[in-house]
Amino acid sequence: AKGAGKNTYQIYTSSMEKEFLKEYHLERALRKAIERNEFLMHYQPKVEAKTGEIVGAEALIRWQHQDRMIPPGEFIPLAEETGIIFSLTDWTLRTVCEQIKRWEEMNVPIVPVSVNISPKRLLKNDWVETFLRIIDETKVNPEYLELELTESVLIENEESFNNSIQTLKNIGIKISIDDFGTGYSSLIYLRKFKVDTVKIDQYFIQNSLENEVPVAKYIINLSHDLNMNVVAEGVETEKQVTLLQQYGCDQLQGYYFSKPVPAEEYIKMVSGTRGQ
Ligand code: C2E
Ligand code: CA
Ligand code: CA
Ligand code: CA
Repeated sequence: AKGAGKNTYQIYTSSMEKEFLKEYHLERALRKAIERNEFLMHYQPKVEAKTGEIVGAEALIRWQHQDRMIPPGEFIPLAEETGIIFSLTDWTLRTVCEQIKRWEEMNVPIVPVSVNISPKRLLKNDWVETFLRIIDETKVNPEYLELELTESVLIENEESFNNSIQTLKNIGIKISIDDFGTGYSSLIYLRKFKVDTVKIDQYFIQNSLENEVPVAKYIINLSHDLNMNVVAEGVETEKQVTLLQQYGCDQLQGYYFSKPVPAEEYIKMVSGTRGQ
């Protein structure tokens, strides 16, 4: 029994060591990735539910590391743990602002682009100031910019937070709440922050649309009562499109329309449907 115990222990440490080494290498690579230009943004269109016209986009980060494309689910949590998320978020916002500015200069039709903001980024007080500086320096029209926040940030930081959000909204930036339904807040609570848009988490789109009491339907109705716009994410099938249209959802986003694609490919789609 003693031997077996020791053996188990060794297997345990060696797998922990492997895990540790993997994370250690990933962290080192992550720290260098910005200066090595390994990140890029992909864009996924959001369409008007009634017409299918592209009316917005979400910017999603990609990491091209050596010959591998590492998905954000693998490195965003590590970036958050290590504090890399501060510079990474600022890089992301700047890159998207510069991209929108280039589109403005190219005279292509522009629809608002949303940027995912990690709740961790907002823990450092300089965030509003930094975001305003990035917008100022890139000379982007703030009306083309939307920030996707999660419910948790609103709950944790109530007072000062409301002021910060108001500052950004005053210059025309839109605020949307990502992954709605997975946290603990209520829509009534969100109203206090004058949130523009609620994004229903893809879980509810993929698993409960055909239920007798579809959660999505209630989120849509209540959001409209509160004057908020609703986006369904993770829309993959025609059936889901039909149901969401019936429920009166405003915008749809998902593989059914397009996966996230590089900027050049995305801009071709926008120009196409909007008859540039
Ligand atoms: P999210 O913000 O909820 O983004 C939606 C995710 O669902 C994206 O995964 C998108 O590619 C994927 N998706 C879109 N349509 C469909 C669909 O029809 N079916 C399915 N199954 N999936 C769909 P992605 O790009 O891998 O991003 C994963 C998460 O990583 C994001 O979830 C977001 O939380 C985070 N993330 C991505 N980019 C950024 C970023 O620039 N900054 C920060 N802080 N987080 C990011
Ligand atoms: Ca998002
Ligand atoms: Ca989401
Ligand atoms: Ca999500």
